[in-house]
Amino acid sequence: MVTVFRIGHRIFRDKRITTHLALVARAFGAVGIQIAGETDEKIIKSVSKVVSEWGGKFSIDFLPYEGWIQFLENWKLNNGKIIHLTMYGENILNFQMNENFKNLESSREELKKLLVIVGGEKVPAKVFQYADWNVAITNQPHSEVGSLAIFLEKLVPNSLKIDFPNSKRQIKPSLKGEKKYLN
Ligand code: SAM
Repeated sequence: MVTVFRIGHRIFRDKRITTHLALVARAFGAVGIQIAGETDEKIIKSVSKVVSEWGGKFSIDFLPYEGWIQFLENWKLNNGKIIHLTMYGENILNFQMNENFKNLESSREELKKLLVIVGGEKVPAKVFQYADWNVAITNQPHSEVGSLAIFLEKLVPNSLKIDFPNSKRQIKPSLKGEKKYLN
């Protein structure tokens, strides 16, 4: 399945947003998140705790901010594809009709080779060129967390009901929202 790449992380300013990106990536079926920015042990710890309690496999790794170009170069050298989420891109409603999108959503092998980039405060102009496809979730400015969630929901099969094996905790769903667990 798909990997998420977050470009930009500053420990104090971005900790909540980057944590939420990691949690959304995991919940909607990504295999991991790679973050270019300041290494943040607290985020690694809190996301790893969620994975060990709620199950499944999910990786979280940091690299120095300047390493983003090399990371994208390597991704391409390994025959990977890149989607960059940006309000300037092709609207998802059009991109969904595109053969490329259909190939991605219908093949686990293709999804494994896919990197989905979300930016931070400022996105280097070159990112737009490295991307095979620049895709917008509405063409209005909003948030990396919102755009990632909606994009993965559309791309990943069964994204709203993924099984997470080896969980210590699993919610027993209830309309009243009672805090009950199956295990
Ligand atoms: N002004 C920044 C720039 O240089 O593009 C964007 C800042 S925005 C708060 C952070 C990230 O949210 C963007 O890099 C993009 O990944 C995501 N984002 C915001 N609005 C979006 C939209 N309408 N569609 C897709 N992604 C969006």
